[in-house]
Amino acid sequence: MKIALIAHDGKKADLVHFLSGFKDELLQKDISLVATGTTGSHIEKAGFKVNKLLSGPLGGDAQIAAMAAQKELDLVIFFRDPLDKHPHEPDVQMLMRICDVHNIPLATNPAAANMIFKHVISLRH
Ligand code: PGA
Repeated sequence: MKIALIAHDGKKADLVHFLSGFKDELLQKDISLVATGTTGSHIEKAGFKVNKLLSGPLGGDAQIAAMAAQKELDLVIFFRDPLDKHPHEPDVQMLMRICDVHNIPLATNPAAANMIFKHVISLRH
């Protein structure tokens, strides 16, 4: 299972906190994590192994969208900050659109991500 992780600056701490709650499950060998650059650095510091792409504003969201379009992802977790402006907003919209085009689960806040993770974990037991 391959999971893409992205968080806007105002939500990076929330993402790390969220992932830490599922650390045992996420450290399983058959789960791989990929993230935009800065998000990935934060996740790495929290003790996860993660493949870091470009930073979001430099094309990281677009790289994740390309992976989604090629059906290389099983799940995208994207904690967006709805109260901030982002220079790469077109890429953000594009990523969400591509997830919908290819029917890839997309969680944009912790409540949704929590439900999806709990569901995935229950399926694996
Ligand atoms: P970042 O990119 O992880 O490099 O900060 C995320 C984003 O802003 O889309």
